[in-house]
Amino acid sequence: MKFDIVFQALVENTNDVIMVLDATPLTAGGPKIVYVNPAFEKLMGYRADEVIGENPKFLQGPATEDKTRYQIRQAMRDNKSIRTQILNYAKDGNELWLDINFVPLFDDNGALAYYAAIERDLTELKKLQFELEDMAKTDGLTGMANRQAFMERANSEFNRARRYSRSLSVIMIDIDHFKSINDQYGHAAGDQVLRQLGQHCHSRLRDSDFLGRIGGEEFALLLPDTPRDSAFHVAERMREQLSKTSIALDNGIILEITASFGVASVNVEDADFNAMLHRADTAMYNAKHGGRNQVKSAA
Ligand code: GH3
Ligand code: MG
Ligand code: MG
Repeated sequence: MKFDIVFQALVENTNDVIMVLDATPLTAGGPKIVYVNPAFEKLMGYRADEVIGENPKFLQGPATEDKTRYQIRQAMRDNKSIRTQILNYAKDGNELWLDINFVPLFDDNGALAYYAAIERDLTELKKLQFELEDMAKTDGLTGMANRQAFMERANSEFNRARRYSRSLSVIMIDIDHFKSINDQYGHAAGDQVLRQLGQHCHSRLRDSDFLGRIGGEEFALLLPDTPRDSAFHVAERMREQLSKTSIALDNGIILEITASFGVASVNVEDADFNAMLHRADTAMYNAKHGGRNQVKSAA
């Protein structure tokens, strides 16, 4: 078998991108491209003669992760191969996710001669992966963060608040007599109310605030860098605006709804965010017992 001919045909006909770099050390400007196969030209949109002699860094861009670049540079320094995923940019600016196998190639004397990058287009798969990740964090009815996503964010804000001695508040929101809306107008009407309530709250938030649907008709609002008194005012304003806003259902029925609010802020006795949320929940129940449509603060 004539290996040279066979290998050349394989490299030219594979769907995978193949790029060969020379071994110029990083300290001398880094490796330069000496060969790209037709799959590279097709996927990246560059002709071979446009890229030969270039440092392949030009394929990276603003959203390429520093961590990945570092991993690859580290593998080059150690003369090791590395398999990872990297974001590159095609000539037209489109983002391309690639599975990359980066391999040092040695000559007969064992000296580093080239690097080869063997790459597979993962863009469609990654899009699907990101969509699934978004879906897993989103409540399907209201489009806001679900309980799991809310708790993840809340836990990290709690740790941040502790570490930097910052304030952090949470507001629990539970719709008053929601069962009677379901009973009177049906579950679909109840769903519409939940969706509209979500929009109502969402349109009044600051960028740093984080709203989640953490139960059936229970919402929680996380307020970083916000002390309890300010959080109380935020809750009071939301409560008042909600009580004045009519909710129009698809069937023309207009509803007035109210909600009860419980506010808590991080304190030294809270072992974790759950402890703080529990105090907000207790305050919310106090608001219910106090007659509903009101805001109560935790001790
Ligand atoms: P309270 O003022 O004490 O809060 O009274 P409530 O009727 O709102 O009581 P509670 O909060 O315990 O009731 C929650 C009800 O919300 C029970 C359930 O039927 C309804 N619910 C929970 N999730 C959904 C949902 O996704 N859609 C609809 N339509 N209703 C839901
Ligand atoms: Mg409830
Ligand atoms: Mg309720």
